[in-house]
Amino acid sequence: MAKKYVYLFSEGNASMKELLGGKGANLAEMTGMGMSVPESFTVTTEACNRYYDDNKKIAPEIKDEIFAYLKTLEDITGKTFGDPGNPLLVSVRSGARASMPGMMDTILNLGLNDTVVEGIAGLTDNPRFAYDSYRRFIQMFSDVVMDVPKSSFERIIDEIKEKKGVSLDVHLSAEDFKDMVAMFKDHFKEHKGFDFPSDPKVQLIEAVEAVFRSWDNPRANYYRRMNDIPYSWGTAVTVQSMVFGNMGNDSGTGVAFTRNPSTGEKKLYGEYLINAQGEDVVAGIRTPELIDTLAQTMPHVYKQFADTAEKLENHYKNMQDMEFTIERGKLYMLQTRNGKRTADAALKIACDMVSEGLITKEEAIMMIEPKSLDSVLHPQFDGAAIKDAKPIGTGLPASPGAACGRVVFSAEDAVEWHGRGHPVILTRLETSPEDIQGMTVAKGILTARGGMTSHAAVVARGMGRCCVAGCGEISVDEKAKQFILGGKTIKEGDYISLDGTSGNIYGEALPTVEASISGDFRTLMGWADEIRQLKIRTNADTPKDSALAIEFGAEGIGLCRTEHMFFEADRICDMREMILSTNVEQRKIALNKLLPRQRADFEGIFEAMQGYPVTIRYLDPPLHEFLPTDEEDIRELANQMNLTMARIRQIIASLHEFNPMMGFRGCRLIVAFPEIAEMQTRAVIEAAINVQKRYPDWNIVPEIMIPLISEARELAFVKDIVVKTADEIIANAGVNLEYMVGTMIEIPRACVTADEVAAHVQFFSFGTNDLTQMTFGFSRDDSGSFLNHYYDKHIYEFDPFSRLDQNGVGKLIETAVMLGRKAKGSLQAGVCGEHGGDPSSIEFFHKLGLDYVSCSPFRVPIARLAAAQAALQLPRAE
Ligand code: PEP
Ligand code: MG
Repeated sequence: MAKKYVYLFSEGNASMKELLGGKGANLAEMTGMGMSVPESFTVTTEACNRYYDDNKKIAPEIKDEIFAYLKTLEDITGKTFGDPGNPLLVSVRSGARASMPGMMDTILNLGLNDTVVEGIAGLTDNPRFAYDSYRRFIQMFSDVVMDVPKSSFERIIDEIKEKKGVSLDVHLSAEDFKDMVAMFKDHFKEHKGFDFPSDPKVQLIEAVEAVFRSWDNPRANYYRRMNDIPYSWGTAVTVQSMVFGNMGNDSGTGVAFTRNPSTGEKKLYGEYLINAQGEDVVAGIRTPELIDTLAQTMPHVYKQFADTAEKLENHYKNMQDMEFTIERGKLYMLQTRNGKRTADAALKIACDMVSEGLITKEEAIMMIEPKSLDSVLHPQFDGAAIKDAKPIGTGLPASPGAACGRVVFSAEDAVEWHGRGHPVILTRLETSPEDIQGMTVAKGILTARGGMTSHAAVVARGMGRCCVAGCGEISVDEKAKQFILGGKTIKEGDYISLDGTSGNIYGEALPTVEASISGDFRTLMGWADEIRQLKIRTNADTPKDSALAIEFGAEGIGLCRTEHMFFEADRICDMREMILSTNVEQRKIALNKLLPRQRADFEGIFEAMQGYPVTIRYLDPPLHEFLPTDEEDIRELANQMNLTMARIRQIIASLHEFNPMMGFRGCRLIVAFPEIAEMQTRAVIEAAINVQKRYPDWNIVPEIMIPLISEARELAFVKDIVVKTADEIIANAGVNLEYMVGTMIEIPRACVTADEVAAHVQFFSFGTNDLTQMTFGFSRDDSGSFLNHYYDKHIYEFDPFSRLDQNGVGKLIETAVMLGRKAKGSLQAGVCGEHGGDPSSIEFFHKLGLDYVSCSPFRVPIARLAAAQAALQLPRAE
């Protein structure tokens, strides 16, 4: 049997979202519930996919099927497409499985032409209405289907108004609209070189095709990538017979939510306009009335609408966002869908609905989009201020939240401006450990280079600081203290604003509002904790971050990057001295300076973590991040090491690497310089002994983690140094202290030889940042510059550094877990790469049966919720 590409509403229901899109499926459902929905049919998402498979052409049999259903629609409505005696007009609307603001939305009044408009004028005895509808249609169709910008038509409207000496559309007459139609058509022809299509069937097919095309426009592609929506879903197209809200004062149109989408309050919330069509409400030309007033103006309609709203909410068990039209006193429902809402409203609605007995706790957990919690945890732009703001550019949304401040171009300037009481945005080509103080005081960070796991991104996320990274279009001149973006020159001290959730950059000051955590947040998180099976740890390098993570619900540290503990200005010199040492004696001197600080830091972290597990990763400094570049820094180091500046430069040159990310880092440093592991082991074990003495009730078991292992024998070599040093310290102290030794798995070779590796350790922790880098063979710092080409061409749909590539990197992880646990049944396995805080990746880690994921403190709540959702939906490997 031939495939069916078109469905009448009476043939569908809410469970058919995949095929009919959200809009089509819900309209079908409402029809089934006996509500008055204008007759319609839906062209399926499969037809959209077929359109792309057929080289962007609608296949003849699909066109035939559309026309066959058009005939059915004519039969049901008793109206005929293109017949001036009794014309059928339709709206054409896009509708993907998930609602997507990036796509084409709606074309109204399709089917109008020069003869049909006359018919409507006669039938309604309202030529003004007829020509107003016609000019709207020409404008909308030209804009969304034919790419003739809407604004070019607005100019014509302004001309006519000026000529007539009026300021509002309502003051224009039927004749004015008639003139407008003629002028619009001329304008169209001038622009396109052919006449505005007058055949309604041609209009219909062009509109359907435009919806399909809009699935692949840059806005839609971007939205999909941000929201984990696969390209393969496609969009459906709903063709619906028109009802008219602009037929007089007993007609109108509006939108409403069953609860307040900003606060969650349980009260019908919305607005409507009398004698208007849908786009008037959105366009903001006239001020709509609040929905409550409909109770006075049209009490019957209001009651019917309020009842319908309640019925829909109870039916969908979710807050609904509805569109409706009133045609000559009769209510029609044009759409219902789960309403978009702020995170605060989402939490309140979920908790309220549980109290009302409408949903279960499990359903409440499924109702919240984990990533949306970002906006509860970070400052956001003031809603009114952001509404009309236009970004001057975009970069990668590296760390969420909103920030507004004065631009500075160096860490020192950031500290200085901050000291003078100014909020600052630190703008750099890229950041390095030298910038850490500047990053700490900044409201936000903007970089020209670097990806989602670059230094700026990882550090900013750890701090909960807003960051937009890798903005390719920006031209930064750090010396001249200015940058150019979107044609605008921004100088030091100018205000800009950043949205770390979308990656948008604004060349102006936009006010922000602080984050606040509600009781509903805690309630929902508590339910999530009861359900999830994955443990959630955090990536933290300081006692302060550790304490914050505990507050956010972390159950341990999964990654303490010890090299990050030396970022601060008064410490980085000692770290550099260690790196630049040319012999063991020198290095031991430098290490001895580092030891007491590191021990004190570890004590602070053990204390902050109150006996929860703490995984300490041994030094893994990619050399390029730590070597000094500034004259000043080189001078300071020369003084400290008692060497000439020329000698320091010489050593730096000798350490230069072409590929630092694949260079002399991680365990390779320890293989070359075992004294580094000896110092770090001493610091960890002594700190643990000290804190255990202070808090005898806690059971402190430090987890020592060796990074960047690729070969079991190199791990064995390093582990021997750790065990020998640790056992000696413990024996000398005369105490009992357990500790664990594990390794990061971040090189493909370690994954495929995981059975050999596991023999030497008690745990694996997957460093999915490096594992992604090494598996794809592209740099985590540089891939931002070319990945866009891959998205445009649909080769990749998302950034593999943000969302785990389950097919490739995921398979390596699966192999490693399987081999590792076969060799050692008790092997603990977790994830500490950035993917540990990404909901779709967490789902995958849950399925694999990992013990925990670890992420930056601010992502801990997101991970708790995502893990609970995974537990509710997916089985887990034993
Ligand atoms: C990783 O590679 O995933 C990891 C956590 O280590 P880092 O980001 O410090 O290289
Ligand atoms: Mg790594």
